[in-house]
Amino acid sequence: MMRFIHEQTPVRVVFGAGSIAHLADEAARLGLRRALAISTPRKIFLAERVVEMLGGRAAGVYAHAAMHVPLAAAEAARAEAARLGCDGYVAIGGGSTIGLAKAIALESGLPIIAIPTTYSGSEMTAIWGVTAEGEKRTGRNERVRPRVVIYDPELTLSLPAAIAAPSGMNALAHCVEALYAVDASPIVQLMAEEGIRALSRSLPIVVREPENLEGRSLALYGAWLAGTALGAATPGLHHKLCHLLGGSFNLPHAEVHTIILPHAAAYNAPAAPDALARVARAMGAADAPGALFDLAASLGAPIALRDIGMRFEDLDRAADLALRSPYPNPAPLTRDGIRQLLDDAYYGRRPKGTRV
Ligand code: NAD
Repeated sequence: MMRFIHEQTPVRVVFGAGSIAHLADEAARLGLRRALAISTPRKIFLAERVVEMLGGRAAGVYAHAAMHVPLAAAEAARAEAARLGCDGYVAIGGGSTIGLAKAIALESGLPIIAIPTTYSGSEMTAIWGVTAEGEKRTGRNERVRPRVVIYDPELTLSLPAAIAAPSGMNALAHCVEALYAVDASPIVQLMAEEGIRALSRSLPIVVREPENLEGRSLALYGAWLAGTALGAATPGLHHKLCHLLGGSFNLPHAEVHTIILPHAAAYNAPAAPDALARVARAMGAADAPGALFDLAASLGAPIALRDIGMRFEDLDRAADLALRSPYPNPAPLTRDGIRQLLDDAYYGRRPKGTRV
């Protein structure tokens, strides 16, 4: 019997090649007069471009975003935004840059315009994260959800395969977990399935033909759907494991998602056969976990935790941490099951026996 609650916060989305040209109009629409352009140090040229496009509506550039949003960086950014008398933020970059804007908005409640240049999906969610003393604290708060998102595929043309492939697998993971989330609604599931279709078709093109703007557009469209799905549904074991592996063992975010996804899908397959059948259908495959593994491998993305800095002797502690606090997941969480999952992910074994 169908039963659900559907709630989705509207985010204004402007999508298309060259759509960064809409920035000044969008800022005016929000009534911004002193917006702060935020980027990482290496992408300061993007923040400078934002300032140029905003003209009189810009307050300045803050180009100190860093991975995992260290608390000190968040505090320094909040102080600078207050000093400049900002009334909003324009974050241009990947999940780390958007994460810094969210950390500032969490306190100030001022609006964010996000211009994502990766497939992380953070721009569509109300999830924030700040890292202090080696632990990443996260939460949900509508104050941090960007009001406007400008998706311009031209900005992703420079994304190299080594970043694009794991970033795209990160987006796929949002879709997979949204399909079996406890609070998934039929609309969210439609978006998730379409996101999987778009990403699994486009990522091979992105890697093979980096200049192909159609492929880049399809991938960014998939990332939008993925972020929307993550923003509207509560993820399970996969996101929990990736969060703790990234935070407690300092592993790179998108790569961890890439490696864990096929194994988390295999773990949940017996308990969520319908969701996994939809993943398989969207990928044009018979076996969803195997297809996810093969896709990552074909993109040249990492497939083994041991190759991205995980130590074998930490697998037991990781399994313990995964069971420390309860969270919703289709398959029951067992110490042996999670330890086996981590072992398979450590060695990069292809999941087998997962036909659904
Ligand atoms: P990132 O923002 O750290 O970017 C990865 C790398 O890509 C950086 O070196 C960056 O300079 C480079 N880069 C970005 N855009 C580029 C482009 N167009 N061309 C060339 N290089 C480019 O990584 P990410 O994977 O986008 O984001 C990861 C972070 O986002 C993590 O901290 C994760 O926790 C967070 N995240 C948050 C949410 C959420 O809903 N809050 C969702 C997903 C990810």
